[in-house]
Amino acid sequence: MTKITYYPSTNFNERMPEGTGPVKIDILVIHYTGMIPENSALDWLCNPESNVSAHYLIDEKGIIFNLVPVLMRAWHAGESYWRGATDINSRSIGIELVNPGHDFGYRDFSLNQVNSLIYLAKIILSQYPIPPRNVLGHSDISPARKIDPGERFPWKQLAKEGIGLWPNKKRSNNTEPSNKQVISMLKSYGYDTENNSLSDLVTAFQRHFRPERCDGIVDKETQVQLENLIFSVAE
Ligand SMILES: [Zn+2]
Repeated sequence: MTKITYYPSTNFNERMPEGTGPVKIDILVIHYTGMIPENSALDWLCNPESNVSAHYLIDEKGIIFNLVPVLMRAWHAGESYWRGATDINSRSIGIELVNPGHDFGYRDFSLNQVNSLIYLAKIILSQYPIPPRNVLGHSDISPARKIDPGERFPWKQLAKEGIGLWPNKKRSNNTEPSNKQVISMLKSYGYDTENNSLSDLVTAFQRHFRPERCDGIVDKETQVQLENLIFSVAE
């Protein structure tokens, strides 16, 4: 039995509606903590001086901590964008996974940690109308600033559990897409193509959908993944 431990942070405020509509919660953002020692992240996310938080943190043993009530606005996304939305903190639920990150010895997420994440994400997805394409990494919503949770994050495994979207390889155009076509596909999927370079966008896309090589270059495999993703959301 996985239980959720309450570990309150004061770093939150009210969610803001967009325009005159009601508050929507329709995005799930996955992060890594990127800190050593690993256990320092929990207190940092609860420290009033840090001005950062997340709704949940999952440590490498798989223990789930609830830091901010889900109905409140946690401070995890920073300046970011997805499918026209810019106040991502108001629209999303944020989950931090303990991992030293690229600067301090990036490593695989532990089995217990991934199992706890699947357990938690399934609860969240059963309670909030979050479409598969809105299950995202921090790097998806902020390609120039962020690289977490990184290429070791098991997106494909999660998609098999019904968490997030993974393209079904079916079709691809034989012709190599122009830069303009690549930008147009990334934009239609949800990326902020106005404020990020093509290379940063493609790298962010690869970290999520083609993790074997994240170099910002649209090779055949990246093209196939991108085209099939566009097909799968168009269907
Ligand atoms: Zn992050």
